[in-house]
Amino acid sequence: MGPPIPVTPTSRTAPGPRTTARGAPLLELTNVYKSFPLRRERHRAVRALDRVSVQVPERGALAIVGESGCGKSTLARLILRLMPIDAGTIRFEGTDIHSLRRPDLRRMRARMSMVFQDPLGSLNPALTIAETLREPLEIHRIGRNTDERRMHVARLLEQVGLDPAWSVRRPDAFSGGQRQRIAIARALATAPRLLICDEPTSALDVSVQARILDLLRQLQHDTGVALLFITHNLAIVPDLCDQVAVMYLGRIVEQGPTRTVFSRPRHPYTRALLDSVPLPRATPNALNVLPGEPPNPINPPNGCAFHPRCPLAEPRCRETTPALRTDRDECDTDPVGRRVACHLVEAP
Ligand code: SF4
Repeated sequence: MGPPIPVTPTSRTAPGPRTTARGAPLLELTNVYKSFPLRRERHRAVRALDRVSVQVPERGALAIVGESGCGKSTLARLILRLMPIDAGTIRFEGTDIHSLRRPDLRRMRARMSMVFQDPLGSLNPALTIAETLREPLEIHRIGRNTDERRMHVARLLEQVGLDPAWSVRRPDAFSGGQRQRIAIARALATAPRLLICDEPTSALDVSVQARILDLLRQLQHDTGVALLFITHNLAIVPDLCDQVAVMYLGRIVEQGPTRTVFSRPRHPYTRALLDSVPLPRATPNALNVLPGEPPNPINPPNGCAFHPRCPLAEPRCRETTPALRTDRDECDTDPVGRRVACHLVEAP
């Protein structure tokens, strides 16, 4: 891990934080369903998300993990309302975001930001860094005048460990890691309450990845921003997120406290994922390599979608889809709740 990066709290001149009812999650997804019609056969659709329910508490950190194509990024786009939802609800600060009118949606987006996988693709190459960081300030009317916005830009750059003097440069003058720091600074410009990170380190070298993760951890600690962290790399989850949800073909197959899920994975897919990465805390078991490829989402298997790859599959797994339910072994000892979708895990 790299050296600590200085973090300076950013002033909130506007838009101010909204309150959430005491005890209510900051973000709550309930039975979210999303499908995409096939281009050539409009009467058929690919199921991208199937009854996904997760929560992110105030100041909390939830990791969504799974292989490519499992629906993780679709989830992020629905949360930001970049596309319509088919069914279910997504509540942010207690409000159903898919019912918001455009002005309210714009105000909400100031409190919910996203960091993308490709920092170069997410930055406008024609704009200087100062112009890039000023843009959200102007859109959301943060800062009373040019001087206040210039000071805000300088604070943001310091916050992510970059020299404010570099603000006159354009993105191509920076390394991949520095560009991702700029993208994080832009995401923090409106002092959001939730930061959605979609594979923010997967395009970076390993040493740079570690420093970006250090930065995110420190920002979360210092600003209290909640994290929804989307990744296929389980190795980075335990140090950053206290909750984890494992997705397979658009469904959550296991979720709960990261400590519990990583030390005692219950779903065969979670176990296989953990055994396929070098994690010191992973439980050794017989599944050392994740067998096969994820099934074609256009023709998903009947029953449990994981059954073609599962060494523990039984005849009932090919016929009946297992429900996501609380693990009976832990319902007394783990009140936070670990839930698993597998016929071999018994319900209370
Ligand atoms: Fe494997 Fe059956 Fe459990 Fe699916 S339901 S993970 S196929 S044992």
